Amino acid sequence: AAKAAGRDTVTLFSGELRAAAQRRLHVTTELRDAIAAGQLVVHYQPLLHLRTRTVTGVEALVRWQHPERGLLPPAEFVPVAEASGLVDELTRWVLATVSRDAAEWDAMGLPLTAAVNISATHMGSGTLVSDVTAALASSGLRPERLVLELTETSVAEDPERAAEQFAELRVSGIEVSIDDFGSGFSCLGQIVSMPAGILKIDKSLVQGIAGSGHKQASQSAAAVETVVSLAKACGMRSVAEGVETPEQLATVAALGCTYAQGFVIARPMPAEDLPRWLGARSRRRAALAG
Ligand code: C2E
Ligand code: MG
Ligand code: MG
Ligand code: MG
Repeated sequence: AAKAAGRDTVTLFSGELRAAAQRRLHVTTELRDAIAAGQLVVHYQPLLHLRTRTVTGVEALVRWQHPERGLLPPAEFVPVAEASGLVDELTRWVLATVSRDAAEWDAMGLPLTAAVNISATHMGSGTLVSDVTAALASSGLRPERLVLELTETSVAEDPERAAEQFAELRVSGIEVSIDDFGSGFSCLGQIVSMPAGILKIDKSLVQGIAGSGHKQASQSAAAVETVVSLAKACGMRSVAEGVETPEQLATVAALGCTYAQGFVIARPMPAEDLPRWLGARSRRRAALAG
């Protein structure tokens, strides 16, 4: 009986694995077609420069306008793209789209920096620098307008390779940012020695600041303060991400963060909404200064 049960378990298990693999394959095929069919869209979330209270840049966040399932967040398809080797193609599409949008804003008198998220696998594939250069060349966007975000964890996977490519990108004038800092268990020394210009403080640290118990709030504020001074000591700028409340915004500003990003400032929005949003914001500020 035990033998039979064992066999059943094995059958069931491989059945589940097969189903999971088939699902992944299905999403992969669908996603490949989606890129070609123009179903991917980029939304942009503003970054607020805290000292001047001006919006100086945006982060590009990809979405999939799925014909049946609606607007899908990156968590639903970016991991599949990474696992199936499709992510470089996806990123090339994002880079081209973002460069075109940013060049257009520039021409409208809106000189914003635009940050693009890059997967660890892309850094390993060896085409990152040429893919970025190609997007800049075809859009005419100045390299100074482009920022590439790589997570702390993906940098830690191969720090030497990351350092090489970061250096190469920065020589070309492209800024590099370390995303989700404080969310992983990477070697601090390694991360701060990276040739990157921006450190993005993970939202788990930022969101601990206000709303929760007093003790945790002061500990989170201390953690954010430490990262801010670490960034300063390394000649890096800092971004507080996931800022949701006015209290969190006031705290990260008081702690000396360079930029803030989060729902309290704006949610990610389609490219065509951004100029209008920026216009409304500056009119509101002018009226307040009144
Ligand atoms: P990320 O780069 O850390 O991006 C920030 C995420 O936090 C975004 O989620 C954004 O919508 C969300 N967010 C912003 N402000 C707030 C806030 O105040 N509160 C909360 N709770 N969340 C906030 P999103 O768009 O779902 O993206 C998730 C992740 O997917 C990104 O994290 C990034 O790692 C990845 N991703 C997004 N776009 C791309 C892309 O084009 N390529 C690659 N490879 N990855 C991408
Ligand atoms: Mg990011
Ligand atoms: Mg992040
Ligand atoms: Mg993330």
